[in-house]
Amino acid sequence: MQSGNGKAKGYIHKGYRLRYVASRKKWVPEHRLVVEEASGRLLRRDEHVHHINGDRLDKRLENLEVIDQPKHSREHKFILRELSRSRRENEELRKQIAELTNQIGQLS
Ligand SMILES: [Zn+2]
Repeated sequence: MQSGNGKAKGYIHKGYRLRYVASRKKWVPEHRLVVEEASGRLLRRDEHVHHINGDRLDKRLENLEVIDQPKHSREHKFILRELSRSRRENEELRKQIAELTNQIGQLS
């Protein structure tokens, strides 16, 4: 799928925007191109680019971090663990709020 006004703007694949690089004859995720441009070299296959804020379409350089594959999967496991921990904590706090609201209601 292409978008834009007649100009190929690439397409989204697995949440990433891909761009066709004619010189390499292939589609490359845009965020990798951003890092490659900034560092002045091509990234190796084992060099992953992590989106720090989790938004795969946010290709600002400050949101991108080059890390190796094992560290990248550890990072994502860590984020998922933190997410489920936060959800449990959130649920617990909601219960406490409901309980306190209930107690306040009984006071008046
Ligand atoms: Zn990542």
